[in-house]
Amino acid sequence: MPLLPSKELLNWAEKRNVAVAAFNFNNYEFLDAICRAAAEMELPVILATSEGAIKYMGVEVIRGMVESSIKRYGITASLHLDHGRSFETILFAIRHNYTSVMIDASDKPYHENVRLTRKVVEIAHPLGITVEAELGVLAGEEDEISAKESIYTDPYQAQRFVMETGVDMLAVAVGTSHGAYKFKGEPRIDLTRIRKIRELTGIPLVLHGASGIYEEYARKLGMEDAKGVPDAILKKAIEFGVRKVNTDTDLRMAFKVGVLETLREYGGIDPRKYLGRGREEVHKMAIRRLKVIST
Ligand SMILES: [Zn+2]
Repeated sequence: MPLLPSKELLNWAEKRNVAVAAFNFNNYEFLDAICRAAAEMELPVILATSEGAIKYMGVEVIRGMVESSIKRYGITASLHLDHGRSFETILFAIRHNYTSVMIDASDKPYHENVRLTRKVVEIAHPLGITVEAELGVLAGEEDEISAKESIYTDPYQAQRFVMETGVDMLAVAVGTSHGAYKFKGEPRIDLTRIRKIRELTGIPLVLHGASGIYEEYARKLGMEDAKGVPDAILKKAIEFGVRKVNTDTDLRMAFKVGVLETLREYGGIDPRKYLGRGREEVHKMAIRRLKVIST
């Protein structure tokens, strides 16, 4: 099957009251592990690259790897640009066959965010490309995206934003943050806010910074203070209208655990030995996340 617009995957999720998992990848090992997991679970998946990932791999390589991987595994997938910061980046992704783009102008004033998002919708929709935008600010760091303080999404402003832009899905700030250190005390997600935004906008919502940061991995990496979104809370958020859940940090942590554990015992120089073990861990984590998010 060719790459589909994310919208078709979101419709699939809508019917089942689940979400689609969006996984970020930065190399072949991650991509292969994610696609194999999706095939084994018989679930659709959004393959996401940030601007940083495009810089690292090269857009032609990404496209080639993605197209051949989905064919190899026979999976239903879309290729998504995560956190596109400018109109130029969006055009670049569209020119290179991305079927889904995120325009992130959430750090700009409201009217500027509306203007830029609408401009992206106007060019993307006639081409059948799905558009995600963000309203509110998530704290934390992810590639070149960083913010100290979070600003929660206002439900009424979200309603206006969706009407004014015609965007397909909306990333909301409801207490999650990018990176591995999401909460100082108890994890707090504003579920009431999610429900309200969903009620007023009626469109699929997106949760960024949604990794679980599982304890056994955090411990192995000496990241004891790391804290993520517990599976049970994530499930609730999905029940209330989240239809796309982003996962990056969990995969990164799993990969590092696999590589480190191999290198501790393996004295050789064959990269397939330790990268392959990293890939196995990413695969295991992708399965675990797919179970929570899409079933
Ligand atoms: Zn994000």
